[in-house]
Amino acid sequence: MSRVTIKDKTFETSLPEAEILERVKRIADRINKDFEGKTPLFLAVLNGSFMYAADLMKNITIPCEISFVKLASYQGTTSTGAIKEVIGLNEDIRGREVIIVEDIVDTGATMKRMLETLGTREPAGLHICTLLLKPGKLTVPLDIEYAAFEIPNDFIVGYGLDYDQEGRNLRDIYTLVKE
Ligand code: 5GP
Ligand code: MG
Ligand code: MG
Repeated sequence: MSRVTIKDKTFETSLPEAEILERVKRIADRINKDFEGKTPLFLAVLNGSFMYAADLMKNITIPCEISFVKLASYQGTTSTGAIKEVIGLNEDIRGREVIIVEDIVDTGATMKRMLETLGTREPAGLHICTLLLKPGKLTVPLDIEYAAFEIPNDFIVGYGLDYDQEGRNLRDIYTLVKE
């Protein structure tokens, strides 16, 4: 176990890079089988998924495309508070098999919003492919077809995920050390 300090917090290794890469390869193998003959469009959600998306795509062997979207938060006028808008989607996804590549599904609110937004554009199918899933925190019903790891409800950083925008460059995944 190694420790890192980011700003005011200490984290310790919970998923080493080698273990991550092995799981990511297994997810890619499943996708290669499930989407054979279909040319799916991978849509990676920035910023958190950039490292995962790169490693996943290196193991995809079927014809495919990849593009990137971002979620912009703005304060809504309704009681739901922060609304997230999908920006940067230039592809026509009508009739396409779309695989959403996400870093982590926590409450599931973000993915629900993505599915609603993308669903209006009439894709042939929408599939969630997340690196991490915190099943204990999921509050909306979501069909998560691909999840590399199920993890406890602790805050994590590294391998693309940030703490206050830092730590995305770390090769391993680290968990917050509770004081
Ligand atoms: P949800 O909408 O599913 O509750 O939250 C998803 C988003 O919250 C993720 O895309 C990610 O940005 C952030 N998030 C949730 N849990 C963690 C965590 O443990 N570490 C980091 N760095 N971000 C998290
Ligand atoms: Mg994310
Ligand atoms: Mg973040």
